[in-house]
Amino acid sequence: MPKDFLKGVRDRYDVVVIGSGLAGLTAANTLARAGYSVLLLEHHYQLGGMATWFKRRHGHIFDISLHGFPYGMVKSCRKYWTQEIADSIVQLKGIRFENPQFSLWTTFNREDFTRILTERFGIPRETVVAFFDAARRMNFYDDQHTTTREFFEQFFPGRDDVVRLLMEPITYANGSSLEDPAITYGIVFSNFMSKGVFTFRGGTDQLIRLMRAEMERNGVEIRIRSLVERIEVDAQRRVRAVWANGRRIACRAVVSNANLKQTILELVGEQHLDRDFVDETRAVRLNSSSCQVYIALKPGDGFDYVGDLLFHSEHRGFDFDAMLSRNISSRTFSFYYPDIRPGSDRYLIVSSTNARYEDWAHLSPEEYRRSKQDLIDTTLDCLEQYVPDIRRRADHVEASTPCTFQRYTRHWRGASFGTKFEGLKVSKELPQQVPGLFHAGSVGIIMSGWLGAVNYGVIVANEVDKYLTPAPVRV
Ligand SMILES: Cc1cc2nc3c(=O)[nH]c(=O)nc-3n(C[C@H](O)[C@H](O)[C@H](O)COP(=O)(O)OP(=O)(O)OC[C@H]3O[C@@H](n4cnc5c(N)ncnc54)[C@H](O)[C@@H]3O)c2cc1C
Repeated sequence: MPKDFLKGVRDRYDVVVIGSGLAGLTAANTLARAGYSVLLLEHHYQLGGMATWFKRRHGHIFDISLHGFPYGMVKSCRKYWTQEIADSIVQLKGIRFENPQFSLWTTFNREDFTRILTERFGIPRETVVAFFDAARRMNFYDDQHTTTREFFEQFFPGRDDVVRLLMEPITYANGSSLEDPAITYGIVFSNFMSKGVFTFRGGTDQLIRLMRAEMERNGVEIRIRSLVERIEVDAQRRVRAVWANGRRIACRAVVSNANLKQTILELVGEQHLDRDFVDETRAVRLNSSSCQVYIALKPGDGFDYVGDLLFHSEHRGFDFDAMLSRNISSRTFSFYYPDIRPGSDRYLIVSSTNARYEDWAHLSPEEYRRSKQDLIDTTLDCLEQYVPDIRRRADHVEASTPCTFQRYTRHWRGASFGTKFEGLKVSKELPQQVPGLFHAGSVGIIMSGWLGAVNYGVIVANEVDKYLTPAPVRV
């Protein structure tokens, strides 16, 4: 008999959360804390979604998306998770750029960027101040038509070196390009610039362990290997139940952390939705995907400090297409030293590149294997200049592609960073189409990444709370 992963699950809950990415986890925890009965269903065998890790022979643990997040995570984790989680967040101080135009180290905050822009790039201080202030002032209700390219052009006309410094890290962080709305850039960039780049000491596995313990304390029923196949709605289009592993579980509300388009077009189905809304959903563009190469040094071997995050490129100027190309000329290296996992003696490196799903999805098995090997080989060649003799010293090397992310998260096209900006509107309007159905997950660029996902989980949990709490009757 196959194992029943839903054994012991009740027939009815206030809320079912589909997916355990950071937005799903945070929504589940917030709603359980507010007193609702919550069932969290995750199709994978591990919680965390893209906030994940994997273990390999000889005790190596690789983090997938722990390259860095803004300081705002400290406040969000303290408020919506626990003090212990917030206290484990530490700053990465060595952010490094190596490219044909410049070679520099920074703490990646406003003060240091002001120094670099004025002293190294010769930009007048007033221009730098005006740029930072304009970026900081941006918010969701602002002009959504100015592109990031136009925004840069206002302050740094003709300076592709400055654009590269300001844009390259954000493209790696969320897949956005110069054609995306400037507000997405302004919000994300300013979040980082407030205090720099932060990470989680203890690793992603420890974070998710602590989150799981907190959810259990608050009474969330958690099930892994539980695939939600369908969201059931009634004749008035209100949410009634979910179907998971072939079983019906009734609920008053659903929070879907699955990809926005999948939630609407597959789990609900367009027959239950207005034509215009379906068209709008179809038109939402998915954000880009990623490839990674994971390298662990032999136990007992290590390397001198070469920085924490290194934006390496052999390309001149900021070129989004070149960053996505299979012919890789740009990589971000995350260097993990033993102190990231106290008690460990391991040195690991994760190389990330933005990638196109189409370049990987249609290869034959043999071409796919060869392309992955090529990705590994060219990455090791590049890494040699920072960690000499890496081929001989590496104990374990492997690669992932957009197909890997698609397989583990079920996201269409392996989209690592949710949707483009227009996805946020569709995500927010979903409960008007299907009362009781909410979407929380990476959308609209600004609600993506660890911080964006956690914060969107809270925002959506509050919306669910309003929906489930009847308004007081006026007399
Ligand atoms: C390579 C890479 C590097 C990254 N680096 C960083 C970084 O350094 N800093 C940063 O802030 N962000 C980074 N990110 C982005 C960040 O990890 C994500 O934006 C964030 O974790 C997404 O959270 P989410 O809540 O949107 O859900 P996701 O993580 O996308 O999780 C969705 C979950 O839903 C589950 N699911 C889907 N469909 C179903 C179904 N039908 N039934 C049950 N379960 C289902 C999936 O299995 C998954 O667990 C990176 C992402 C990638 C891929």
